Amino acid sequence: MTDTQSAIKDRIETFVMDKIVPFEKDPRLGPHGPTDEMRRELNALARAAGFFAPHVPQKWGGMGYDHVTMAVAFEAAGLSPLGPIALHCAAPDEGNMNLLDKVATDRQNQRWLKPLAAGDIRSCFCMTEPGGSGADPTGLLTTAQYDGDDFILNGRKWLITGARGAGFTIIFANVPESAGKPAGATMFLADMSTPGISVARDIDTMDNSFTGGHGEVALKDVRIPKEDVLGKVGEGFRYVQVRLAPARLTHCMRWLGGARRAHNIATDYARTRQAFGKPIGQHEGVGFMLADNEIDLQQSRLMIWWAASLLDRGENARHESSMVKTAVSEALFRVADRCVQILGGLGITRDTIVEQIFCETRAFRIYDGPSEVHRWAIARRILKPDNRGLPR
Ligand SMILES: Cc1cc2nc3c(=O)[nH]c(=O)nc-3n(C[C@H](O)[C@H](O)[C@H](O)COP(=O)(O)OP(=O)(O)OC[C@H]3O[C@@H](n4cnc5c(N)ncnc54)[C@H](O)[C@@H]3O)c2cc1C
Repeated sequence: MTDTQSAIKDRIETFVMDKIVPFEKDPRLGPHGPTDEMRRELNALARAAGFFAPHVPQKWGGMGYDHVTMAVAFEAAGLSPLGPIALHCAAPDEGNMNLLDKVATDRQNQRWLKPLAAGDIRSCFCMTEPGGSGADPTGLLTTAQYDGDDFILNGRKWLITGARGAGFTIIFANVPESAGKPAGATMFLADMSTPGISVARDIDTMDNSFTGGHGEVALKDVRIPKEDVLGKVGEGFRYVQVRLAPARLTHCMRWLGGARRAHNIATDYARTRQAFGKPIGQHEGVGFMLADNEIDLQQSRLMIWWAASLLDRGENARHESSMVKTAVSEALFRVADRCVQILGGLGITRDTIVEQIFCETRAFRIYDGPSEVHRWAIARRILKPDNRGLPR
């Protein structure tokens, strides 16, 4: 860490612990995440503290951090599940901002990225489908049929984070072959108020940190003009990688902070809670769990920084970000699980944040690619005849 990064870390950690953690008991934080009113209040605090949108390029009003500095800032923000919401670097907005900045036209960015970067609106990313696109996105069922200069979209998406209350969405749909026109998986931009888009239900899930929760989105004869195609028709899978490789890493950064907080709480408990004549941390069974936590946390941090530095060098780090996502999501879940165990009955109550971190890190092993899919993809690359020694 440079001196600047170290100062950023200290300032964000102090801000999150002093100003944001008290909101964890706010009644506006429900089973589907914080309300938008609460999000705006948290955003205002982060803005006042000088830490709003650290990842957003300066031309869009952000702080323009590189990936390694983001790793430091996001870990500090992640000490509370509400920290990334306050700093406006939570999923899915953070990944969507990155994708728009890289792929969208200037007109599209003025319309969608500008208000999103300012925190005036939220967004969602509609890719996963019940029975269709999932771990294997090629199972895409949603269609976008040509209709003159427009496309007509039909389909159903689910597990869509932040759908309820989002201002706009990025929709992943298949353009079928038609009279030799460009076809294939394509991304579309649309306001959530577009006729035919509706949130059919709010899904009850084991996690609750994301504003708007997770929704099921119905797409019924949604008319989208061709100028609202994101990038090019048929290039959707390429843009999925543009979005997901960095987005998986930023999830790792944020949940590393959450797991560290859980570890701090478990450590305090292990220092003070007495059992069989001494603090429980002095029983080897508990002490070793704390030691394994430290090992998992530091290995996770170093892997994140390594892949972040590759992104900063302009590499796509696809292979590496798969390795990091798999290793870190599993390591952080182990940390959270040990923390629950160390806290005993207290660990499964909502009296501490540890229970939530446990649920969040469990879900993290599934989204942005389940561990098995990453291992499978890593193995495929290793076995390629032209592989000359990945990773770097
Ligand atoms: C909290 C949360 C938030 C989410 N937010 C969004 C969102 O905002 N937008 C969005 O579009 N989606 C979102 N998702 C969906 C997420 O991307 C999918 O759940 C994920 O891609 C897996 O797809 P699936 O659920 O359909 O599982 P399936 O495709 O049914 O896979 C089930 C299991 O099969 C196994 N499997 C699959 N392929 C292989 C393989 N090659 N080798 C070995 N095992 C394999 C894995 O164990 C996998 O977990 C979210 C999910 C969660 C849990």
